[in-house]
Amino acid sequence: MAYMAVYEPTIGLEIHAELKTRTKMFCDSANDPFTAEANTHICPVCLAHPGTLPVINAEAVKHVLRVGLALKGELADYTEFDRKNYFYPDLPKGYQLSQYEFPLVKGGELSGVQITRVHLEEDTASSIHDEKTGATLVDYNRAGVPLMELVTEPVISSAEHAGRFARDLQLLLRYLGASEANMERGEMRVEANVSLGQNGVYGTKVEIKNLNSFRAMERAVAYELDRQKKLIESGGTVVQETRGWDESKQATFSQRIKEGSADYRYFPDPDLPFLKLSELPEFHPDILRDALSELPEDRRKRYRDLALQSDDIELLVRDRRFGDYFDEVTKIAAVEYNTAINYVANDLVKIIRDIEERDTKSLDKIPISATHFAKLIEMIQMKTVSSRSAKDILTALVSHDQDPEVYAKAEGLLQETNIEKLREVALRILNRHGQVAEDYKAGKDSALEFLLGQSMKELKGAGDPEMLREILRSLIR
Ligand code: ADP
Ligand code: MG
Repeated sequence: MAYMAVYEPTIGLEIHAELKTRTKMFCDSANDPFTAEANTHICPVCLAHPGTLPVINAEAVKHVLRVGLALKGELADYTEFDRKNYFYPDLPKGYQLSQYEFPLVKGGELSGVQITRVHLEEDTASSIHDEKTGATLVDYNRAGVPLMELVTEPVISSAEHAGRFARDLQLLLRYLGASEANMERGEMRVEANVSLGQNGVYGTKVEIKNLNSFRAMERAVAYELDRQKKLIESGGTVVQETRGWDESKQATFSQRIKEGSADYRYFPDPDLPFLKLSELPEFHPDILRDALSELPEDRRKRYRDLALQSDDIELLVRDRRFGDYFDEVTKIAAVEYNTAINYVANDLVKIIRDIEERDTKSLDKIPISATHFAKLIEMIQMKTVSSRSAKDILTALVSHDQDPEVYAKAEGLLQETNIEKLREVALRILNRHGQVAEDYKAGKDSALEFLLGQSMKELKGAGDPEMLREILRSLIR
């Protein structure tokens, strides 16, 4: 038997997220790098004019500490900011304020991935390459925006798990209100370290950058694992390097080979105070914990306890508009969870997504009041409307929010449950389709469905199908 090599994929992630604060990390310029005109949110501090002094943004510190709490990591008691020295046009000071020895958070876990650390630093400016003139333009609106960096342990072993972790982190940041974490906008940036080990020994790692979406990240990791495997099998060796992801070629490419590690000459910034967090009440874990909203994992558990299915749970957890709506609707007495989830997760979601696709913009709010939706659910439960009519009523309510009962009455959609009336209709249909009735008698089950369909049509969909089926069956016998 041929010897088959077993490869052990190892992936570790480094994720940056721009934090949502009113002002920048160390000055009071507005934190709005995406929509503002270039170089309008700048000041002497973030442009690094000599003699200026930075001030720590407490809101940014709190965001990172809350992330630490949510990850069940260890929050620092002592922390400081360090200068990371290097030279680049997007870094006006000639150093980046970051954290080295004393990150705000150590350890923690999310989606089965151990966290090494989470620290706070400042973003760089953005450079834009001008095709026409060949010049590089620099926009300092982003310089000094608070940036969180999270590093994972090298414990992920598939592209799919890496993707799940990154998506869950995005969701967590959004729940915490810490970041919009939109990857396409660069509010969340993922770097993936990938290696292929053998016999319990780590392989050489390659770092992949410029991943602009979760899909790109998953594909890049999968591609890289495959590339390294083929390289090793053809007798080559993996070199430690930084690679980029080429979206059009769907391949990684070499950007730069690592020649030893850069010496950033880290040292504590003498212009900023060292923080002893336990002496500062606003950073106390109990106070921060009190302000923590329900986290995605808590919410999942709450829905699991209601016996909802996992697909539906993910929908409600990931799209909080539907989650909040479901919560509001099911708070109303007499609404059953399983009927409500059925109409939220299937019908309502489809209607809303269709509208969003048509208008190419997302709706902030579900356009039907929870009271009206709840009333419709109750009507379905009481069988005063058929499920067919319920879908039509829902569509009508989305374009014009109104009392579903008033609407159903006006449109003749209230379900007929009067047995005499239903029998009358059934007899009429049986007279019209005598042969089909004979077919059913002869054992052709589908014939009954035809007769039911015809009866429902006669009633314009407003008949109780269960009752009708029973009546037809009894009349044919
Ligand atoms: P470096 O010193 O090159 O910065 P670190 O040990 O700080 O490396 O790790 C940086 C990132 O690389 C972390 O996310 C870590 O999980 C990941 N990593 C470390 N070793 C490996 C490996 N052998 N394979 C894949 N990822 C790794
Ligand atoms: Mg490192």
